[in-house]
Amino acid sequence: MKSFNFKSATNTKEATKLATGRATFLAGGMSLLPAMKLRLAAYSELINIKKIKSLSGIKVSSKSLKIGATTTHAEVSSSKEVGKSIPSLAILADGIGDPQVRNRGTIGGSIANNDPAADYPSACLALNATIHTSKRKVPVDKFFKGMFETDLKKGELIEAIEFDVPEKSGYAKFPNPASRYAIVGVYVAKFKNEARVAITGAGSSVFRSKELEAALSNNFSTSAVDSANISSKGLNSDMHASADYRAHIIKVMAKKAVSSC
Ligand SMILES: Cc1cc2nc3c(=O)[nH]c(=O)nc-3n(C[C@H](O)[C@H](O)[C@H](O)COP(=O)(O)OP(=O)(O)OC[C@H]3O[C@@H](n4cnc5c(N)ncnc54)[C@H](O)[C@@H]3O)c2cc1C
Repeated sequence: MKSFNFKSATNTKEATKLATGRATFLAGGMSLLPAMKLRLAAYSELINIKKIKSLSGIKVSSKSLKIGATTTHAEVSSSKEVGKSIPSLAILADGIGDPQVRNRGTIGGSIANNDPAADYPSACLALNATIHTSKRKVPVDKFFKGMFETDLKKGELIEAIEFDVPEKSGYAKFPNPASRYAIVGVYVAKFKNEARVAITGAGSSVFRSKELEAALSNNFSTSAVDSANISSKGLNSDMHASADYRAHIIKVMAKKAVSSC
């Protein structure tokens, strides 16, 4: 790891003001610090945002659930409000990594990082989230741009993620047994007029499945998943799973997610 300066911001204005040049935000450090240690990333300044009180916490209303960016995975998984309004989100958070990762890692860090196998991006896409940043509100369909890439601009801070509350929803993942990252993860959400389905781990970035959305919008059931045709074209093929195997697992996980609703 190269040497760097460490600064703690106490409010969002200070954090964004400090984030110039070769500076970056530090939340839980669960992705950023390993990347720096492996020399995959280098920064001259790390701006700690964990001391900014307004960035943490959970607010619920009848239509939406808003989670502050520095809220940890452990806080989401143990939150009564999340468990009551979107239980599948608490289940997702409880399945991230191990207890150490869940106690340090944050929801904002996870979606800013946009690892292709991360869990939260699938929840954001399926639950039609709005990403509140220091500059604007970004609809989720415009937020995830590609592998480790988002619509965030230099120095733009995620402040909160606001999820639409669905009628019902479920998440199922086939985890890598070592890291718990998703080899394939499927998040399904049923809203009044449509079903949204997001898949993580299977492609270069999280994506919505038009085939599963059409099938489940028509009939939200496991038999509808059976009728969907999932192509392996463009899916990841690596030492963990071939593209054909991932296509198969997408249907298995989609059925599991629907059954869990
Ligand atoms: C062993 C291990 C296992 C893991 N398993 C899983 C898993 O099963 N599923 C899963 O989804 N993830 C997993 N993770 C990743 C974990 O969820 C991380 O917490 C997460 O990816 C990053 O969150 P963080 O708060 O640690 O962010 P950091 O590492 O601090 O930051 C990551 C990136 O996001 C930027 N950033 C952070 N916060 C903000 C913000 N508010 N606004 C703008 N940019 C910001 C940082 O500048 C940096 O570029 C694992 C990690 C480890 C080490």
